Amino acid sequence: MTKRGGSIDTQLIHAGEIRPGIEGAVALPIFQSANFESVEGEEYHEIKYMRLSNSPNHTVLAAKLAALENAEAAVVTTSGMAAITTIFHSLLSAGDHVIFQDCLYGGTYDYARREFGRHGLTCDFVAGDRPDTWADVLRPETRMIYVETITNPLVQVADLEAVAAFARDHQLISVIDNTFASPVNFRPAEIDFDLSLHSGTKYLNGHSDIVCGAVIGKVDVVARVKKMMNYLGGSLDAHACFLLHRGLKTLAVRVRQQSGSALALARTLEAHPAVTRVNYPGLPSNDGHERAARLFDGFGGMLSFELAGGAEAAGRFAEAVTIPIVAPSLGGVETLITLPALTSHAGLTPAERAEVGVADGLIRVSVGIEGTDDLVADFEAGLATL
Ligand SMILES: *Cc1c(COP(=O)(O)O)cnc(C)c1O
Repeated sequence: MTKRGGSIDTQLIHAGEIRPGIEGAVALPIFQSANFESVEGEEYHEIKYMRLSNSPNHTVLAAKLAALENAEAAVVTTSGMAAITTIFHSLLSAGDHVIFQDCLYGGTYDYARREFGRHGLTCDFVAGDRPDTWADVLRPETRMIYVETITNPLVQVADLEAVAAFARDHQLISVIDNTFASPVNFRPAEIDFDLSLHSGTKYLNGHSDIVCGAVIGKVDVVARVKKMMNYLGGSLDAHACFLLHRGLKTLAVRVRQQSGSALALARTLEAHPAVTRVNYPGLPSNDGHERAARLFDGFGGMLSFELAGGAEAAGRFAEAVTIPIVAPSLGGVETLITLPALTSHAGLTPAERAEVGVADGLIRVSVGIEGTDDLVADFEAGLATL
């Protein structure tokens, strides 16, 4: 989508940048300074200090991230989890209730299940594609509805427009973890979400070399999150800011390459007899396809598939392929595979895994930016060993 300032490709390079560059530098230097000289007339609460996320490295990133999602404001954080927990602690008070989508990033799910109670918070979990059931858990003390753009590891797309509308109708704060889609493929503010958040560790930085996060959204809500972060201290270090900034410049070219390769791999896998199921919203056979095609500019670099031969075949495939690295995390330039039954969902019994749709033969792929034909050939060779 184009807007003032051009396409997202142009925004990635130019939005928020200090021009002319400092001392003529084309790239923004690292401001490795904890504090800054006082300026005449400056109020005490306006001082520049690294924990307050107001160095040039922070403010340029914040302006760029807000522009990328067509939102009003943004702040960067030390990790995706810092973004998530700071959102909870800034916007919720003891007694409040939250409605969560039932399939969440493990850290978010564990925090809600294990830690909410100690802060006097309660929550319920709902199916993201069943808006008709959400009112059943609504209470007078419900304050927030929280979902993810694309779920892990089944790559499902909830009824995101219904989430934003439900929040509006019931005066809830709507929050979405937009990590998997990235601003290139989806900008939550455009369908009126109050807040979007990212594990910047994944696509935003994109090079598997730092941990960082971001909160993006309406100016008054982001201001509350930033104020709490000043207390909790989860501000991003200047060098990590620099790396995130550098990584962001190539976000659009990376995500488009990853989305293209993921679609090619999904089609190859769907046509193969050793594969019983492919989860990718870019496939017309996928339940979320119509919605994803309408809301997203691309279907993203994440997919998962099930092998007929179960856990044993999944292990054999992971050994046979030569390009993917078997590793957790996602969104980097290198293709990664994980076996969720042995990693993210290892804590569940086989019966519990079956209930949440994670078969023992499920393989999750984070597609990198290697050559599409190389990846397809490598996956075909891996499947041929089964
Ligand atoms: C990785 C991830 C997180 C947590 O981010 P960190 O940067 O590891 O703290 C949150 N949500 C999603 C969807 C993730 O993939």
